[in-house]
Amino acid sequence: MDDRNAPSSALEERLIAAVSEDEAGVVQLAADLIGFDTTARNPGDPARDEARLQDYLKARLEAVGAAADLWEPEPTGRGDRFVPDDLDFKGRPQLAARLGGAGGGRSLLLNGHVDAVSCEPRERWTSDPLRAEIRGGDLYGRGACDMKGGIAGMVHAVETLHRLGVRLAGDVVFCANSDEESSGAGSYACVKHGVRADAGLCAEPTGFDVWASCRGGVNPHIFIEGRPGHSEVPQPHWLAGGAVNAVEKYGLVLDAIQTIRDDWRTRPDHQHRYLAPPDILTTVIRGGEWMVTYPSSCEITLSVQYMPGRVDADGTGQAVFDEVEARIGAVAAGDSWLAEHPLRWEWPCDIVPAEVADDHPIVALALGAGSAVGRPGKIAGLDSWHDAAMFTQRAGTPTVSFGPGSIGKAHVIDESVPVRDLVDFSAAVALALVRWCGVVG
Ligand SMILES: [Zn+2]
Repeated sequence: MDDRNAPSSALEERLIAAVSEDEAGVVQLAADLIGFDTTARNPGDPARDEARLQDYLKARLEAVGAAADLWEPEPTGRGDRFVPDDLDFKGRPQLAARLGGAGGGRSLLLNGHVDAVSCEPRERWTSDPLRAEIRGGDLYGRGACDMKGGIAGMVHAVETLHRLGVRLAGDVVFCANSDEESSGAGSYACVKHGVRADAGLCAEPTGFDVWASCRGGVNPHIFIEGRPGHSEVPQPHWLAGGAVNAVEKYGLVLDAIQTIRDDWRTRPDHQHRYLAPPDILTTVIRGGEWMVTYPSSCEITLSVQYMPGRVDADGTGQAVFDEVEARIGAVAAGDSWLAEHPLRWEWPCDIVPAEVADDHPIVALALGAGSAVGRPGKIAGLDSWHDAAMFTQRAGTPTVSFGPGSIGKAHVIDESVPVRDLVDFSAAVALALVRWCGVVG
């Protein structure tokens, strides 16, 4: 181990030893969390075990002296651009817990999302995805790496500090939210509730790298209008009352999408040292009513990503949305039918990207703590999105992802995390807390 990264004090040595001695504790904690069904939802889906999981975490944190706040955010209805329409949190409470420091130190946010992607196709798993199982040194189960294992490591670190009687100077702010896998509405609700700290760690499966930046995204719907008519009957021009095929009009939209995609790949302001250039593609298409009828409508959904550098001063991606709508709209306007029957757009839920500077102390903190437990990592980016962006962007809390396991094992059949990673991560978080918040006495 490089001496510069070795544990820097007898206390740190004790912490690492104490975490290692309690491997069974952190594994059991992760297994308990996996046992709660917290499958990510669409608006309207009934709640599952989210409240029971949060009660469990609340009890664990209160047992080490934290003041825990568990609440169901109010539904926002329609019109909040950061929340899907008609989303409510009934049965899906969010958890924020504060472990008050003695004073004089910096506060650190420890964040994790409690939702996990669907277990389906469940019959193809080697073991029950909701009953954690260890095979060959890896812990298997839905959420093992994304990211119940990471949450377990964070809670276990706080518990270990308490067990050893270590008193921090700064506060620990623990936050467990829902809805990371769907929209970011959970962390958004937490930020609106007042969750803040001087900096933050989010326990995504980075494999001890630090994800300091991510791309944002939005999934607009485009509605294309046609005019129905009999497909086996010759049709006059639409101006003479003929039918119009909405699905074929989509061909024009597709051409425009592909032009934007090609342009975006090489745009200078889309080049980023850790992130791929953004993409734009059709992900859902629906159209037509009957096998011998001209389709009267075609509805498509796009997946559009955007770079941290394209976030507007108001903290939204509006300029990107305007560009997409204008460029596709201009192509459509060259068609006489679409010029008179313009595309109709809907722009749901803006998922805003963020980045933390390489030289921000939270980056060095995470990398240093990883190195000190023998897990050196590097600065990287996440081409998808993580809650860290929400805290960075909207809570004035520069937050990076740093956690156990590999993103390659996330969202897959037989999701897993190495037990070694859980132990090392718990030790790294304990060190990070001591180094960041400071120790009293
Ligand atoms: Zn995740």
